Amino acid sequence: MTATEAPNSIEMLKRLVAFDTTSRNSNLDLITYIQTYLEDFGVTSTLVPNPEGTKANLYATIGPDEPGGIVLSGHTDVVPVDGQPWSSDPWTITEKPDGNLYGRGTCDMKGFIAVALSHVPAFQRARLKVPMHFAFSYDEEIGCLGAHSLVEKLMGNVPRPQAVIVGEPTMMGVVTAQNAGGGLVATFTGVEAHSSMTHLGVSAIHFAGDFIHWLNELQVELAQRKHPHLDTLPNHTTINVGIVTGGTAGNILARECVLNWGYRTLPGDDAMEVQRRAEKYVAELLLPKMRKKHPDADITLRRRSFVPGLKPEENEAAAKLALQWTGGNRTYAVPYGTEAGIFRGHGIPTVICGPGDISQAHQPNEFVARSQMDACDAFIGKMIRWAEK
Ligand SMILES: [Zn+2]
Repeated sequence: MTATEAPNSIEMLKRLVAFDTTSRNSNLDLITYIQTYLEDFGVTSTLVPNPEGTKANLYATIGPDEPGGIVLSGHTDVVPVDGQPWSSDPWTITEKPDGNLYGRGTCDMKGFIAVALSHVPAFQRARLKVPMHFAFSYDEEIGCLGAHSLVEKLMGNVPRPQAVIVGEPTMMGVVTAQNAGGGLVATFTGVEAHSSMTHLGVSAIHFAGDFIHWLNELQVELAQRKHPHLDTLPNHTTINVGIVTGGTAGNILARECVLNWGYRTLPGDDAMEVQRRAEKYVAELLLPKMRKKHPDADITLRRRSFVPGLKPEENEAAAKLALQWTGGNRTYAVPYGTEAGIFRGHGIPTVICGPGDISQAHQPNEFVARSQMDACDAFIGKMIRWAEK
């Protein structure tokens, strides 16, 4: 491949969407594709694999080996299409007359990665005074699992960047605040017995039910603590139990029940409060009550994932740059979590800014508008001119 054959961002998006990188799958085919593509333009990249070697993050630098660079960050995984009523093949981009490009990951968030990659020749041609770093992760959609090691490696191996742009869909608005998010697994272990002999055992499901009820009450309490200065909706801590599994038959006291649950706290709030209170409730009230029925009963709480929040006042330097490239005049806050919090945790001013509408993310018939891809192309173009000065 030569520089003249570089695909435009939409052509690149078609290539990226064709890889089914649902989080449960390996992303290595896509990562190998990106690595080869970069190599063809003389750009070396580094892989940061997961412990099993089945997935990898990738980072690469274009430009001088200097501090003050810009990190372009994105996740390579997408959410499942299982059971969703798609009207076209999710893994093939379909452009409709309305100018929308349909396909899984178009907006969340291969659109941004496609724009970044399609600009590789432009980055190469530019006389960059500061470097551009690419940071592409795995397993964002299941709790930002890959980004922790990616950010650690990147920060340890490149001169300190001055700003990070996380290209999650914001309609190219500049986002400086996001919620923190914790994902936990609660495992209830009961003692099996015939359902007519409830005195002989203890149902894991019934105690898991108590726990869910307690979470509901905690959510009501925390919802009273509003932050009127934040324009996110809802503007309070939220809790959700996403998966409940357990039990073997309608007439057996369940031996096991597992809850996959999580919470989101507003920027600036104590991001550990929900977990701490859950641990206290389990240790002091729920587990003793369960063990009173049977000493073998048990409850464990395990942290599955954690994404730190993003506070607006810490990201002004990055926002100033991003607003210059979008032409916008204000910043926003979002209630969801992204890898931005992980970069910020390493002390780098970080904003979220990318093509597409978050309301399209995770939906059947997900799309990104062609005009959003154009706006992101223009954003990167301005960034390059800035980096040449
Ligand atoms: Zn995303």
